[in-house]
Amino acid sequence: MATEQPAITRATFDEVILPIYAPAEFIPVKGKGSRVWDQQGKEYIDFAGGIAVTALGHCHPQLVAALRAQGETLWHTSNVFTNEPALRLGRKLVDATFAERVVFMNSGTEANETAFKLARYYASTRHSPYKTKIIAFHNAFHGRSLFTVSVGGQPKYSDGFGPKPADIIHVPFNDLHAVEAVMDDHTCAVVVEPVQGEGGVTAATPAFLQGLRDLCDKHQALLVFDEVQCGMGRTGSLFAYMHYGVTPDILTSAKGLGGGFPISAMLTTENIASAFHVGSHGSTYGGNPLACAVAGAAFDIINTPEVLSGIQVKRERFVQHLQQFDAQYDLFSDIRGMGLLIGAELKPQYQGRARDFLYAAADAGVMVLNAGPDVMRFAPSLVIDEADIDEGMARLAQAVKTVIAA
Ligand SMILES: *Cc1c(COP(=O)(O)O)cnc(C)c1O
Repeated sequence: MATEQPAITRATFDEVILPIYAPAEFIPVKGKGSRVWDQQGKEYIDFAGGIAVTALGHCHPQLVAALRAQGETLWHTSNVFTNEPALRLGRKLVDATFAERVVFMNSGTEANETAFKLARYYASTRHSPYKTKIIAFHNAFHGRSLFTVSVGGQPKYSDGFGPKPADIIHVPFNDLHAVEAVMDDHTCAVVVEPVQGEGGVTAATPAFLQGLRDLCDKHQALLVFDEVQCGMGRTGSLFAYMHYGVTPDILTSAKGLGGGFPISAMLTTENIASAFHVGSHGSTYGGNPLACAVAGAAFDIINTPEVLSGIQVKRERFVQHLQQFDAQYDLFSDIRGMGLLIGAELKPQYQGRARDFLYAAADAGVMVLNAGPDVMRFAPSLVIDEADIDEGMARLAQAVKTVIAA
């Protein structure tokens, strides 16, 4: 006879999981499209998208079909053998972008770790072992390994872990003069999110990215775009670099790439890729058939005019609702971002209270995010329908009313 399993509740989290997160009080158990249900059967509209990951909503039928088909065929080979889904996905990414070579990893962190190691390796083998400087930006986020968190520009994440990888320098985002002041021939790479996500949903100016391109060319440094959050259709273009018309040397993708299945990719040119050789870098799981099959299905849906052209229309609907809140409650000092990566910065009188709005929103049945203490962030499914946007915003209006009345 099966023994009774102990009840799993939110309290279990505090009993068994490392205290590195503060998850909501409810536990989601089921999702369909842009709707999610918790253990008690309460329904939520999902404006969070698993932090810009579930780009096609929950349990999209074509992703489920791809997962099921591959799940019954071949899960894992390791990179001692290659596999068809990885090669198919690699071909799609190369055909659709500037890239000539791709490598798959499992998380944004790992794709960036690969990118930064490649940039250092390329510079030291093709130019000089002293060409190691990495220029990155305040408030940037590039992941949580010691190297990637050190390239990120948020001391609250990077401090306290002992000596950091050396020769990484941070300057203000969107400030080309600041970059110019520290750029030299010892610089191997400039690393930038075209739209800073975690740092507050701030888009680069076109002049800034073009200026970085020019400076990198002048000093033979590589331009690395971290599109982990802003890529895969999020801004309305397949990748944000296409919107800006500024082509990087290396690009990283993750989050939306697998539509919820963990996978990441680093894209680059043949010349840069050729600095690496067999054994330079690797991953046991990277490019596994299950992840690549799901990502391939997600790619085929996202990289279509119907999906990409719908994103701006949906953004406008979100922004209209937010402007209405603002007109009613004098709430936001700025509504920004690109496509369906939307940031709404709270006015000084609500400073530091983004999380209060988030909790109240969950109570009212809508999942939203913050980006720092002062910015509400929305990263919904790229195919969310109008009715879900309107219903979620009606619930958010209730939440806003509650917070303001408190
Ligand atoms: C989320 C994120 C990462 C890290 O990705 P993980 O999958 O959490 O390792 C890196 N860069 C950016 C821009 C991100 O938004």
